[in-house]
Amino acid sequence: MFEAPVQRLIDELARLPGIGRKSAQRLAFHLLNVEQEDARRLADAIVEMRNEVRLCTRCFNITNAEECSICQDLRRDPKLVCVVERAQDIVVVERSQEFNGRYHVLGGSISPIEGVGPDQLNIRELIARVEHEELEEVIVATNPTVEGDTTALYLARILKPLGLRVTRLASGLPVGGDLDYADELTLGRALAGRREL
Ligand SMILES: [Zn+2]
Repeated sequence: MFEAPVQRLIDELARLPGIGRKSAQRLAFHLLNVEQEDARRLADAIVEMRNEVRLCTRCFNITNAEECSICQDLRRDPKLVCVVERAQDIVVVERSQEFNGRYHVLGGSISPIEGVGPDQLNIRELIARVEHEELEEVIVATNPTVEGDTTALYLARILKPLGLRVTRLASGLPVGGDLDYADELTLGRALAGRREL
């Protein structure tokens, strides 16, 4: 429909989450009109992020080192791990200032409808950590959704026989949404009131 370079950018933008065909066109034409230098800065930021950021070898948080800053922080309780679906959920839990352990990012949640089973998530790595790091408690902070609950119950079933506490955030979080819909106070309360799974 458009000149090939423009069409190519529209196609790429339209693949981003939350960006429809119309928005992609609007963004592409906006970028066509900005200064060359501004467009380059955006392109550089994307390339640089992909080159420099990687996943923590221990917890799968994003980092620019072998291990993320949280895993390297010696003031944190190494026997306590909070399990989240995505790396950006760590920021949400951190904001509550109620948690002083480490994290483990699953990379999603169990969803039979979308064809995501336990094998597609970082669950094997979590089991290995429970054993090697002799964890005493795993707090499951998956989203308050059907998939998040399913994942929590699955984790409880396979982790509890290993002899540690497995807990879930207390209710009170907005049901059906993502963890980041909760404000820090609500999340702090949910952490403090966590219950055994
Ligand atoms: Zn880490």
